Amino acid sequence: MLNQGKPLKAAVQEAINACEGAFSIVIATGDTLIAARDRHGLRPFCMGRSKTGALVVASETCALDIVGATYERDIEPGEILIATLDDYYAGLEAEGVGRTESIFLDGPRKEHLCVFELVYFARPDSIIHGQSVYNYRMNLGRRLAQISPPVEADIVIPVPDSGNVAAVGYSRESGIPYVEGLIKNRYVGRTFISPTHELREKGIQLKLNPLKDVLAGKRVIVVDDSIVRGNTSRNLVKMLKDCGVKELHLRISSAKVTHPCFYGIDMSEQKELIANQMENTEKIREFLGVDSLTYLSVQDMADVAGYEAPCTACFSGDYPAGKPVDFVPLSLTQASV
Ligand code: SF4
Repeated sequence: MLNQGKPLKAAVQEAINACEGAFSIVIATGDTLIAARDRHGLRPFCMGRSKTGALVVASETCALDIVGATYERDIEPGEILIATLDDYYAGLEAEGVGRTESIFLDGPRKEHLCVFELVYFARPDSIIHGQSVYNYRMNLGRRLAQISPPVEADIVIPVPDSGNVAAVGYSRESGIPYVEGLIKNRYVGRTFISPTHELREKGIQLKLNPLKDVLAGKRVIVVDDSIVRGNTSRNLVKMLKDCGVKELHLRISSAKVTHPCFYGIDMSEQKELIANQMENTEKIREFLGVDSLTYLSVQDMADVAGYEAPCTACFSGDYPAGKPVDFVPLSLTQASV
């Protein structure tokens, strides 16, 4: 579109209007910064100000903290935020902060922020809808304790790091002491998005090491954020049992992952998802080899999220932005900026 002679703003608007799915885009030219969020608001995207009044944009608010910027607001679904150098200087002189301009995509715009961000992806020190992700995870853990069948247990341990806060919430709600039972190797990344089965298998051994003296002979509640294929959880259970854990009760601070994500998370094919392969929780419990297993429901997650219409598609199969097969194919000419 730029090569058809359109000005930058119009070209970007037209190109982004033609895009489907989940995205947060930043375009920087010599004198202009443009930030755009998809019309469904699937991924978090926020704006703030540097100490000099300049626009700063980031996926999560914790990134603003790191550079000393102040959070101002979330970028709206379908919003294209534009800051030019001329507007920066003009705004600075008149109002003390750089000016920005917002234009919006055509058609419907409604936020369906990914609920998995609250469970797993976002950092706990980020703020979403006025609450820290830490607080959301604490409440997911509390809810999990409320709905789980009561069991006599000695300790609650998290699967670090993404299970940490939910385990604290579970412990506070149930009154069962929270302790650390697994130590994480900080130099290994997320295992569920490792490309091969072998790498994922090795990943759990490299990633987590159990504290044998804490765990041996104990009845343990283990809190994890999710189960995707089930192999990681199964290996973890074996590792804990090899340490002499007497009873192992697995608690999951999300619902069953039953569908793939088409909105940017490389999760798995549907046939690989354990909750898709096995007909009920009891079968999954048997496969994992645990004494009891409880998941949250999709409704529990939505209730704790507390904001309207979160995306829960990988747990419910209800895709708020459609599936790739629904998307209208674009001609490359239309889409090229
Ligand atoms: S499908 Fe799942 S991971 Fe993907 S955006 Fe929706 S809730 Fe998030």
